[in-house]
Amino acid sequence: MTLGRPAPPPLGKLLSGPAAGRRGPTVAAYGATSADSGLVPLEIGRRDPGPHDVQISIAYCGLCHSDVHSTRGEWRPQRYPLVPGHEIVGRVTAIGADVTLFCPGDLVGVGCMVDSCRSCASCEEGLEQYCEEGSVGTYGAADRRHAGETTQGGFATSIVVDENFCLRMPASLDPAGAAPLLCAGITTYSPMRYFGVQPGDRVGVVGLGGLGHMAVKLAKAMGAGVTVFTTSPEKTEAAMLLGADAVVASGDAAAMAEAAESVDLVIDTVAASHDLVPYLRALRRDGALIQLGLPGEDMPPIPVGVLMRRRIAYASSLIGGISETQELLDFCAEHDITADVELVTARQLNQAFDRMVAGDVKYRFVLDIASLKENA
Ligand code: NAP
Ligand code: ZN
Ligand code: ZN
Repeated sequence: MTLGRPAPPPLGKLLSGPAAGRRGPTVAAYGATSADSGLVPLEIGRRDPGPHDVQISIAYCGLCHSDVHSTRGEWRPQRYPLVPGHEIVGRVTAIGADVTLFCPGDLVGVGCMVDSCRSCASCEEGLEQYCEEGSVGTYGAADRRHAGETTQGGFATSIVVDENFCLRMPASLDPAGAAPLLCAGITTYSPMRYFGVQPGDRVGVVGLGGLGHMAVKLAKAMGAGVTVFTTSPEKTEAAMLLGADAVVASGDAAAMAEAAESVDLVIDTVAASHDLVPYLRALRRDGALIQLGLPGEDMPPIPVGVLMRRRIAYASSLIGGISETQELLDFCAEHDITADVELVTARQLNQAFDRMVAGDVKYRFVLDIASLKENA
């Protein structure tokens, strides 16, 4: 041990917990202790439920590519230890004295945010993700209402969340398949609604992973036709089974040329740097490309002439607000939409992250939290 430097806490001990003076249990979790540690078993503190809080026993948590970017420090330096996971489904086990929206036993969800200022113009409009003071992420964020304690996500046996950031999960949907709706689902639903996807429109979906396959299902349910653009031609048959009307191998220049000016909206979900020009060329006049992926590296520049020639818009979008997420969950219940998931155990998490980076997932890994309890 180097003198003058505190020893790192041993793994498996309490690594993050409720701020001083706050009481709460210690629970089993999986998270990263540094950008290159991978995911390891941890114990974290959770606060006792306050007056407006619900305590949730987590059953399932989806694995989003953002979890990979975050735990590996690809976006920015992170506060470690970091327990990822923001596609959380579980049952309410306790509620605070002033909770009115949920009861013990309710099946609930938690997505990418656990708080916001609740009073700025964006919050007033139900767009908490664009909170002018910054929304509080489900993990790796300073929890302003709780003494700046670092939030920790859903790769854990339980979580405590303000009732206003909790979603009601439709009883008709399989809870493991519904977990990814809380990020992959809402992130693709929100821009398609904002940009007004209508029956008869054509939506292009770039990248057939977690977000991409949800975009296909949701666009179809909105009545649109769908073209999938993929770097993996072997996904063609599976994409058609998901409902795609056409699949274009993005590496096939002739096929891409044929797809020119064929879609009204492009939902780009690619998790790595790539050239957007071929997809901008696929847009008809007045079309828009929505870049949802947030690669760790810079993207090649967009020549403005490509946009100008057909009044094309290049835009982005961040998850969705709480009320819109509830709307999406209810929409999915109505249309019987869930994610296609592969359940993984806690011990398989690192392999699942690697497989996600390699594009080897159909189409969302979901952590079975029961396996974490067995490890505890
Ligand atoms: P994912 O499941 O890993 O899917 C990404 C897909 O992109 C892959 O399956 C692959 O599809 C395609 N791809 C092409 N080239 C790639 C490459 N070099 N590396 C990785 N993927 C490549 O990821 P996801 O969970 O859907 O997330 C996608 C991106 O959206 C991530 O950057 C994530 O951080 C971001 N995200 C943004 C928001 C938001 O609010 N805007 C919310 C959630 C996630 P093909 O094989 O079909 O080409
Ligand atoms: Zn996500
Ligand atoms: Zn706000």
